[in-house]
Amino acid sequence: MKEQARQARAENRVIGLVPTMGALHRGHLALIERARRECSTVIASIFVNPKQFGPTEDFSKYPRTFDPDREMLERAGADLLFAPEAAEIYPQGFSSYVQVDGLSERLEGRSRPGHFRGVATVVMKLLQIVQPNFAYFGRKDAQQSRIITQMARDLNLDSEIVVCPIVREPDGLAMSSRNAYLSAEERKAATVLNRALGAAKDEVAAGVRDSLQLQTVLHRVLGAEKLARVDYAEIVDAETFEPVLRLNKPCFVVLAVFIGKTRLIDNLFIEPKAPGSDELLFHF
Ligand code: AMP
Repeated sequence: MKEQARQARAENRVIGLVPTMGALHRGHLALIERARRECSTVIASIFVNPKQFGPTEDFSKYPRTFDPDREMLERAGADLLFAPEAAEIYPQGFSSYVQVDGLSERLEGRSRPGHFRGVATVVMKLLQIVQPNFAYFGRKDAQQSRIITQMARDLNLDSEIVVCPIVREPDGLAMSSRNAYLSAEERKAATVLNRALGAAKDEVAAGVRDSLQLQTVLHRVLGAEKLARVDYAEIVDAETFEPVLRLNKPCFVVLAVFIGKTRLIDNLFIEPKAPGSDELLFHF
């Protein structure tokens, strides 16, 4: 991979990297398409990173669909696929990690200790191997893309981190490889995440700015779905991911909800239309 990337750089190509864990869906393909528009060489990676899964999480049963993934990437116009083995990425004696302090400890980090250390480490390695001009991430994992942006800034990386919109199913469920775990009944129940975000948006659009009031609405909608168990439902500052009391700056409404045994996340990004403006923009 390093040799190929070096050659692309020598040919003055603009390299775009799209890191994934495979089990590809339209959310991943949207990243490839964006990279195709902005770059002349598009590299996708597929690596189910053992270091970002906790000991009781779904690493061994995470969906692995390599052949269809490869075909999808080819059809979507990716130029190269990097799909290393775990032993190649973490050989015997591997002992260096990237830790983004603060941001990594909240929300996803609190529920999944060590998760973001694993994510930051593998993304750093992929960025070092490929040295892309641009690396593409989905806002579906809002805290992850914020942490990677921070890491790139803190460690003076030459790659620009590009964060892309969330791709959803027609009924609003955010696309995710983990949606494959859902039974038919759970799949219906899973729309509750998007419905809760929609209810929060309606409140904000009606003038509510108080976070606690919004959280009450989130819990009311989520609590009405009997297959759902809330891990967290919060309104956080888009920079720090600390809870906010009032919506007066860019914020995320962030959700992590178990539907049966499957843990799903989703978010709504809310920002003032212009700095200081009372008018808000909502990004589902
Ligand atoms: P994953 O394979 O789940 O690690 O995801 C690889 C990349 O695709 C990450 O940057 C994700 O944020 C992004 N991604 C996953 N699902 C979606 C989605 N529904 N919309 C947009 N990006 C997504």
